[in-house]
Amino acid sequence: MELEKRQPKIFQEFKQILKAGRLSHAYLFSGDFASFEMAILLAQSRFCENPADGLPCGKCRSCRLIAANDFSDVKVVEPVGQFIKTETIRTLLREFSSSGFEGESQVFIIRDADKMHVNAANSLLKFIEEPQSDSYIILLTQDESRILPTIKSRTQIFHFPKNISYLISRLEQAGLLKNQAEVLADLAKDWTQAEDFAQNSRVLDLLKACERFVSCLFKSKDLAFLEAARLARSAIDKSEQEWAFHILTFLLSKRYEKKEALNYLEAVYQAKRMWLSNVNFQNALEYMVIK
Ligand SMILES: [Zn+2]
Repeated sequence: MELEKRQPKIFQEFKQILKAGRLSHAYLFSGDFASFEMAILLAQSRFCENPADGLPCGKCRSCRLIAANDFSDVKVVEPVGQFIKTETIRTLLREFSSSGFEGESQVFIIRDADKMHVNAANSLLKFIEEPQSDSYIILLTQDESRILPTIKSRTQIFHFPKNISYLISRLEQAGLLKNQAEVLADLAKDWTQAEDFAQNSRVLDLLKACERFVSCLFKSKDLAFLEAARLARSAIDKSEQEWAFHILTFLLSKRYEKKEALNYLEAVYQAKRMWLSNVNFQNALEYMVIK
C-alpha cells in the first residue's frame, strides 16, 4: 500500500489502533502529506466487508464507494472558494444525527477545516463532545494555528510531515539522478507535483541553470553575471521564478561548508524580497552577484 510508504510511522500507529479497536471519535490531521488518504482508510475501516486485523481491504464494495466519495455514511466536506459555510456543517450534522441507525457507523471528514467559520466550528464542538456511539470526525488542516483551541483540545492530533525520502525515491524511479531528485523533492509539495516536475523539461532546464549559476557564484562574478542572464531566460513566468529562488536556496544551503555560502543565502533572501516587490527577476539575480 502506497500510504504505508508515504507515512510509515503514522500508518504503523493506526494499524495498532485499528487492530486493538481503539479508534477515537475525533482526530485532527495537521499537514497534508497523505492525510486525506489516511482519513479515507480510517473511514473504510468502519465499513469494510473483509477487514484483516482491523485494516480495510480497499477492494470490497464499501471500500470502493468510500474511495469514490459515494458512500452515504461517509461525508467529505471541502471549502467552496475560501470558506466552508456554517450552513453546510449544520445540515450535515442534522443529517447525521437523524439518519444513523443504532450501532451503525458514520464518518465525517472535513478538509481544510481551518476555513470553517467560528460558528461552524462551534456547531462541531457539540458533536465532538457528545459523540454518538459509533460516529467519527476527522478534521484536516494545513494550518493548525488557525484551528480553534477548543477544537484542538478535544481532538487527537497527528502530524503529517512531507516525506522527503519517499519523494526522492519516486523521482529516482522516474529516471532522475540522485542530486536532481533531492532538489525537486525539496521543491515539490507532494508526489503528484514531484512526478509532474520529473516529466517537465522546463523544470529540469531550470534546475540545470540554477546549478550553473550557483557554481559560478563561487568562481567568478563575471561568469555569474552571464549565468544570471541565462537563468532569467530559463525562468520566464512568476511560478518558474519562484521555483528558481527555492532551488537556489536549497543548492546554497548544501554548500554550507563554503564561507561565502551564508552571505549568498542572505543575498538570495534579499533578492527574493526585491522580486516580490516587483523588481525584475534578472535584476534581482544580478543584485545577488554584486552583494
Ligand atoms: Zn473492504
